[in-house]
Order: sequence, then structure tokens, then C-alpha cells
Amino acid sequence: MAIELKTGFSCNVCGEHHDVLPLSYSVKAPLAAAAVPVDELEQRVVITPDQCVIDGRDFYLRGRIPVPVLGLEESFIWGVWVEVSPKDFIRTNDLWNAAGRETEPPFRGWLNSELVLFGDTINLEVSVQTQIVGRRPHFTVVDQDHPLAIEQSNGITIRRAEEIAEQILHAATL
Ligand SMILES: [Zn+2]
Repeated sequence: MAIELKTGFSCNVCGEHHDVLPLSYSVKAPLAAAAVPVDELEQRVVITPDQCVIDGRDFYLRGRIPVPVLGLEESFIWGVWVEVSPKDFIRTNDLWNAAGRETEPPFRGWLNSELVLFGDTINLEVSVQTQIVGRRPHFTVVDQDHPLAIEQSNGITIRRAEEIAEQILHAATL
């Protein structure tokens, strides 16, 4: 479900008033899958809305990088993919419908989505925290000096969410 503010905002890029201010952005597949030629997809890529395996040996999970928004209860969400180890992928799969899985210890993941607002984010290390059944995992950027980590720990203003929207709405990609 898309999170957004219906009040919209006045855009500094095009000068128009946009009807909604998005508070979430997501990508449907890991970048590595998008790089596979279309005629090889069927043979090499297995993908669901939450999981992806490429060539039977590279494993990816979809999850969320939540960023608190000052003054709002809901967080801003980057919906992205991370590569994880085979062991953690299998463990996640085994626990897919297990009550209490949110008490699992966090494990490592490496971003496999481009967030160009933050430069090159491919392989940016995150900590993966399993959520209750039905919720995608949460990712926390490990390097506390990274601009995304700083926004994740300090939170962002609504104005910053507008600035992100201005850049993304008027760019070809995330
Ligand atoms: Zn605009």
C-alpha cells in the first residue's frame, strides 16, 4: 500500500502543485534481475513479490528501509531489495509463516537497489530485521556516517520528503 500525504505539495522543479506527496517508493525487482536479458529471465530468475533467486545461487529479499518523518506517526519507506547469504535466505524461507519469527536475530544484507539520491547504494551493507508474519523485513544501514543512515536515525522533515519527491518525480529512475 502506498503511503502518501493527500495534501500534496508545491514543486520547486516544475512549479506545479502535485496532488499527493509520496512517502514511499519501491522497486519490484533487485537490480541484478533487471540486468538479466529478457530471453534468459525464465531460465535464470525465480521471483515473487518478496524473494528472488538468480542462477540458483544469488539470493535476494525485498524489504523496507523505514525513515521516521518528524511530526508524522508513519515512517517514510524505501522499498528495496538486498542480497543475503544462502543460509539466511533459507532460514527466512523456513520461518515464512512461523509465529514469533520477529524475535530472530538480525542478519546482514547488501543493498541491490539503486537509490541515486544517495549516490551508489549497490552493496551498501544493511542489518536485516525479520518482522511479524505478513510484513516485509526492515533494513537498517550499518555505516552510521552514510547519508541514508543519518536520515534513518535522525528522521527527516516533510520538506525533505518533498525534496525527494521533486527529484524522483522528475527523474527517470529512483
Ligand atoms: Zn513537479
